[in-house]
Amino acid sequence: MEFKSILDQPHKRPILIAGPCSAETEEQILATAHGLKNMKVDYFRAGIWKPRTRPGSFEGSGRPALKWLKKVKEETGMKVTTEVANSKHVFEAIKHGIDAVWIGARTTVNPFAVQEIADALAGTEIPVMIKNPINPDLSLWIGAIERIYKAGIDRIAVIHRGFSYHGESKFRNVPHWQIPIELKRKFPTLEIICDNSHICGERSMLHEVAQIAMDLNFDGLMTEVHPTPDEAWSDAKQQIQPGTFKQLVDNLVYRDPSTDNVEFLETIDQLRSQIDEVDSELLNLLSKRMKLAESIGRYKKRNNIAILQADRWNEILEKTQAVGITKGLSPEFIRTFLRAVHQESINHQEDIMNEVETKAH
Ligand code: PEP
Ligand code: MN
Repeated sequence: MEFKSILDQPHKRPILIAGPCSAETEEQILATAHGLKNMKVDYFRAGIWKPRTRPGSFEGSGRPALKWLKKVKEETGMKVTTEVANSKHVFEAIKHGIDAVWIGARTTVNPFAVQEIADALAGTEIPVMIKNPINPDLSLWIGAIERIYKAGIDRIAVIHRGFSYHGESKFRNVPHWQIPIELKRKFPTLEIICDNSHICGERSMLHEVAQIAMDLNFDGLMTEVHPTPDEAWSDAKQQIQPGTFKQLVDNLVYRDPSTDNVEFLETIDQLRSQIDEVDSELLNLLSKRMKLAESIGRYKKRNNIAILQADRWNEILEKTQAVGITKGLSPEFIRTFLRAVHQESINHQEDIMNEVETKAH
């Protein structure tokens, strides 16, 4: 799949999408839009139909809010975008001159809903942004992109808004950066927007996450902006005022994706070949570790002992995390790494345990 930009005239700086989580009132929408007017925002965002996780939360102002967005266009010249979750939303949005639509995380998970939206979009040229599904499933995300692309839309971008996580995390939705990175690897022409608001869930980390996205060469930002964030009817904790958004954007450091500078390229090449050597040593060590695990497996088998010894596993985890910290490695990394190594060791031992013995005659 080859994609075109969601902008009419692509530019070098990041694509900026900003506006409130929800369109609450005409006054709130216009106050936000006027606050953002001079910031070269590419799309003013506002949710009109809000799919909420639980009933009883504010579900959007619906149709009347389409007129408020039209006013935003007239009064500020900004393009406007909103979320669509079914064909009715698509028809209404197009009828009222919405410039781009996005598909929310709770819709991307449902192929029937995405197909319905794709069918409704067929024949139009409206740019479509597709948020990642709430669960960390790259295929589902790609599936949604394919459905929209097959409907004849090639102005597609994706929005990375993080993934649900059952457990403790400082994020509302954990970023799992490797997933959007893999998407970019597969589809280099696909623009990726970072929705730092839904990743963070609160204000203090918004800048940090936006900077990571810029350093990973993302194409833009989607941030929730509200004139009085604490009073917002949805997602109050993560919204910021227009002035704070301006500061956030002004304080971002933009780095070039690549360079032709020979000295730079040579130095990087040298460092990369050292990295390759270390990776190759790591592989040798890991292979050595698996051979040891196999010997242990054989010995356990002869003595009819189970593979998993919880005490030993706990001991390794704790000891290695403690040593890891002294070597500048985060406990989170050590845990993820060791779990993968441990699983591979178990797989090797399982193979040994279940090997059919071939007796010599
Ligand atoms: C939103 O953008 O306000 C929204 C509902 O986001 P998500 O679909 O990412 O939860
Ligand atoms: Mn929101």
